[in-house]
Amino acid sequence: MIIAIDGPAASGKSTSARQVAMQLDFLYLDTGAMYRCVTLAFIEQGISLTDKNAVESLLNSIDVNLTEENGEPTAYLNGENVTSRIRSAEVTSAVSPVSAIPEVRETMVRLQRKIALHSDCVMEGRDIGSVVFPDADVKFFLVADSEVRAKRRQDDLRKLGEEKSVEELVKDIEARDVYDSTREHSPLQKAEDAIEIDTSQMTIDEQVSKMIEIVNQKREKTKNK
Ligand code: C5P
Repeated sequence: MIIAIDGPAASGKSTSARQVAMQLDFLYLDTGAMYRCVTLAFIEQGISLTDKNAVESLLNSIDVNLTEENGEPTAYLNGENVTSRIRSAEVTSAVSPVSAIPEVRETMVRLQRKIALHSDCVMEGRDIGSVVFPDADVKFFLVADSEVRAKRRQDDLRKLGEEKSVEELVKDIEARDVYDSTREHSPLQKAEDAIEIDTSQMTIDEQVSKMIEIVNQKREKTKNK
């Protein structure tokens, strides 16, 4: 079974996707973290986004591995633990242009499909229900007010020791949404059959219960077929 969770930045995808996966005992995959790892590699190696050969050679040699350590999602890039670094403001501001490169998307989508081949999976991102798994069993599309999302992002950044105002974060988030929604390849979009949930006024527990309820209804229907 594949559960696709898409939506704009900081709409509540990661926290709820993780908990849904835990409750159902499914694999959890944060595809945004994969694009963040690739972006960090671009920054570290100083690669120009328009240098086709350099992009190709980076993608041929990159090793992105998402795992869980001590109950926390952990990201490895070429064997190095980069869990905190991929959440930095530097990576966040560079991730959308890197994710818009078609070759980057092809490589990541291939990896995402391979990871989900042998297990039930909750996968979150921007294009999971529309492109990566158009036949996903259940598709969610989470949305929330920009200001609510900015406050969530502010809390995340504080944990990394970075401070940004809510106004600044609203601008960053909206700019990233525009970039992600208007790019040519696999833009952020709600799949026709996705269930939209507005998380602005919801607690995490409420989001998770609602999603689990919908998944269980789907499982019942499939069982009775
Ligand atoms: O989910 P998160 O905000 O960490 O994602 C970071 C960025 O990765 C997004 O702004 C988007 O540019 C890119 N992304 C993507 N496709 C996905 C997941 C993330 O293009 N499936």
